[in-house]
Amino acid sequence: MIKVTQIEKSKISTIDFENLSFGTVFSDHMMVCDYKNGQWQQAEIKPYEPFTFDPSASVFHYGQALFEGMKAYKGENDEVFLFRPDQNIKRFNKSSERMAIPEFPEDLFLEGLNQLLRLDADWIPQGEGQSLYVRPFVIATEPCIQANPSKEYRFAIICSPVSSYFSGAVKVKIEDHYSRATPGGFGYAKAAGNYGGQFYPTQLAKAEGFHQIIWTDAVSHQYIEEAGTMNVFVRIGDTLITNPTSDTILDGVTRKSLIQLAKDLKIPLEVRPIAISELIEASAKGELLELFGAGTAAVISLIETFNYKGQNYQVENDANSYAQQLKKALTDIQLNRAEDQHQWRYKVQQ
Ligand SMILES: *Cc1c(COP(=O)(O)O)cnc(C)c1O
Repeated sequence: MIKVTQIEKSKISTIDFENLSFGTVFSDHMMVCDYKNGQWQQAEIKPYEPFTFDPSASVFHYGQALFEGMKAYKGENDEVFLFRPDQNIKRFNKSSERMAIPEFPEDLFLEGLNQLLRLDADWIPQGEGQSLYVRPFVIATEPCIQANPSKEYRFAIICSPVSSYFSGAVKVKIEDHYSRATPGGFGYAKAAGNYGGQFYPTQLAKAEGFHQIIWTDAVSHQYIEEAGTMNVFVRIGDTLITNPTSDTILDGVTRKSLIQLAKDLKIPLEVRPIAISELIEASAKGELLELFGAGTAAVISLIETFNYKGQNYQVENDANSYAQQLKKALTDIQLNRAEDQHQWRYKVQQ
């Protein structure tokens, strides 16, 4: 049983839902659960408010912290849906294992999502591209600066209403010096540090006029791995290609869903490593028809130009693109506008 304390007065009327800046506005409630004495304590849903921690709290020093990102959608009849929440919950615990954080009980996680979304249902904007971004996370809270795994943690879920933003096709730099993740490392975990370490090289690329980085493998820098914090897809001729996941690549829910939808739509698909040389060759022949990133926040983000060692290469970006077909197929399922053949939609209990 989750203990629920409702807010006295909702702040929803103070929010300008027409002008939402991603991740800056938070709903009335949050879920919180602390880990102490070797177990998870009473879970609570309560008004969104600041946390107070000791300056020696382990997370500030050794960075045991990780998160998830998912979205809640409101359908035609005000029904609320999540998309494959089981996948996010499993991945949360896979990340936890790698960061030596105790796993969070799956059923309590799902129960918390249901109760929180029921309570804050008014915060879910309705319509194309509109959703409530759900951010579960866990941090190490033990007041102790010994370099050991913390004995105390805080799990929480906060929610932020988001609206679609049209970002045009972007210019990216293929990074051949810095690395996001290394074999044997924790690139596959949604660990906070993977983001922290990515900001500086991305800042340098932005100063050179690029929007984002395409990461390459840390060993040879010959194969592409991820586009910023998204999985990467490429279309050469008629074939859609994405690289296999590994310990350096995050196993994206969007990626695996697009792979299945490509099969459903009879799009020729290959899952194999993608060499930079192959992209350059295909671009020269005019066969590099699409290049895009895939992830929960933007669903699909188109790339129009990539730069490698100072040279720009064009992507054709076909009007009747696979990206467009796949995005439509995916969002139709998410918003309850299409049959859900694979049982991906999860209806929040109201
Ligand atoms: C979250 C994330 C993705 C995308 O995963 P989704 O489950 O599709 O949102 C891809 N790469 C990295 C590094 C990520 O952190």
